[in-house]
Amino acid sequence: MNLFAGISRLPLLERLTERTYDLLVIGGGVTGAGIALDAAARGMRVALVEQQDFAAGTSSRSTKLIHGGLRYLKQLEIKLVQEVGSERAIVHRLAPHLVIAEPMLLPLVEGGTYGRLATSFGLWVYDVLAGVRTEDRRRMLSRTDTLHQEPLLREPGLLGGGLYAEYRTDDARLTVEILKTASSFGADCINYLRAAEFVYTDGRISGVRCEDRLMGGTHTIQARQVVSAAGPWVDELRKLNQSMNRKRLHLTKGVHIVVPRTRMPLRQSVYFDMPDGRMIFAIPRGRTTYIGTTDTDYQGDPARPRTELPDVAYLLDGANRMFPSVQLTLADVESSWAGLRPLIHEEGKSASELSRKDEIFVSESGLISIAGGKLTGYRKMAERVVNRVAQRLGGTWERCRTAQITLCGGEFSGRDEISALIRQTAERLSPCGMGEPEAAHLVHTFGTQTDLILDRFFAEGNLSPRGLVLAELWFCMEYEMTHTALDFFNRRTGRVYFDIHSVRQWQDTVLAAMARALGWGPDRSARERGELEQALHEASVFPEQVPQAARETAH
Ligand code: FAD
Repeated sequence: MNLFAGISRLPLLERLTERTYDLLVIGGGVTGAGIALDAAARGMRVALVEQQDFAAGTSSRSTKLIHGGLRYLKQLEIKLVQEVGSERAIVHRLAPHLVIAEPMLLPLVEGGTYGRLATSFGLWVYDVLAGVRTEDRRRMLSRTDTLHQEPLLREPGLLGGGLYAEYRTDDARLTVEILKTASSFGADCINYLRAAEFVYTDGRISGVRCEDRLMGGTHTIQARQVVSAAGPWVDELRKLNQSMNRKRLHLTKGVHIVVPRTRMPLRQSVYFDMPDGRMIFAIPRGRTTYIGTTDTDYQGDPARPRTELPDVAYLLDGANRMFPSVQLTLADVESSWAGLRPLIHEEGKSASELSRKDEIFVSESGLISIAGGKLTGYRKMAERVVNRVAQRLGGTWERCRTAQITLCGGEFSGRDEISALIRQTAERLSPCGMGEPEAAHLVHTFGTQTDLILDRFFAEGNLSPRGLVLAELWFCMEYEMTHTALDFFNRRTGRVYFDIHSVRQWQDTVLAAMARALGWGPDRSARERGELEQALHEASVFPEQVPQAARETAH
């Protein structure tokens, strides 16, 4: 049985309460997903619970770069640069349709963060540490070449530029594909199940009582080891376990805004200076360009960080300074997202100065918590945690082998095969009035699983854009545990951020199809519609300040 089908929830819940697991992971962000896959691949019996949708925490709200962390070089975090740098090549290999090469331009400006020599040396060190292939190594550009590369750049004060290799991804899809791969190794992963209470036997954690946030009720899951990969909620669980020590989380909020590509037609991604000494990205993606991020201290509800007007003003101001011919206004901002960095607090350091390193805490009663880190480093973080788990479980376990496990949908031998699949998909769709844009969306979202969606599309016979959205929805419900319209429009397909108009276009179709497939009554349908509309509102309408979030701005 495919336990990743939404309709398999009851058998999955039954299984979760009947077994005793070697490892229970709390948190279905990229960190928890990586741990579940690593442990399951070593032969452990694994369960994973996520209180919201998979990736609904920080793992759908990042800058979506699989990167070597150039800024950490500036902070002299050499080991971190080396680790995430070499990891990005591995993650690219494991999911080449989702982790795509994205050349990044670093303009050098008078009074900017980096001078020419320092940039040239820094990018060289970055390439060496990250093991970048020779053909992708950094190129230093003259002022003229830099303007040729990106004509929208501000000319006065421009000295030249550096072009270097980065990778772009879809963080939520990466997380979901890691979880599906974990499931293929036997891990039982479930969303909308909240770890509410630890269960102890002789002073040691032996299980977790969970609340079902979809169907109601509670379930107890037994496990020999429990890992909390709860991101911004790690301290909440440490408090529940009464195991807080001197170290605690420091949450900082990062906002991105999305504008139409026609309003900011960049030729490629740019990483540029802000007047306050920080640096931000502008990244073209499909029909949009997104800009971010901010970095401000955060004390509100971890589940609902909001984009506020000062965040938008800060990013617009930065973009308009660097690309003066563009002159973006608030009216250009179609969508946005706000995410929380679960960093480790260091006395006296501001939001931007805090280290992005991960850290593991082990409590007396056996709770292993992991916090901090990067999307890019998820596999190595998982390896470190699972090594600890293996040690504590005793016995012999295989070594980490996730560097060799291709993620679901990523079964391509190289870039050419991805292009070929896009071409074939476009050809199949062309008699139905669709083509390259739809094909590229499908292949970069679902990889080799595109064929399943197309087969469904042709089998259903509704050969229109509406039919294609319904086939995508069917796949996401059948294979990706999609329970709500927002799961589909946000975490499974990225439309809330990068194609918000299409959400408005297809919301009735999707809500009606989900109601039919999942047996929703009028109340549930109304609630779903309300939640979707609320999410669209929060992504595109910006309050001056969210009242409950007592915030201390670090702009
Ligand atoms: P999360 O994704 O937050 O996952 C934790 C999960 O635990 C949540 O889904 C939550 O609902 C769940 N949970 C919590 N409590 C419970 C409970 N009691 N029961 C069940 N489930 C629970 N990294 C990069 O490599 N590249 C980037 O470009 C990048 N950009 C970033 C930009 C921003 C603005 C931010 C904020 C971060 C960025 N990062 C980036 C860092 C990266 O996004 C994070 O390190 C990563 O997503 C953290 O994943 P996580 O799984 O630890 O946390």
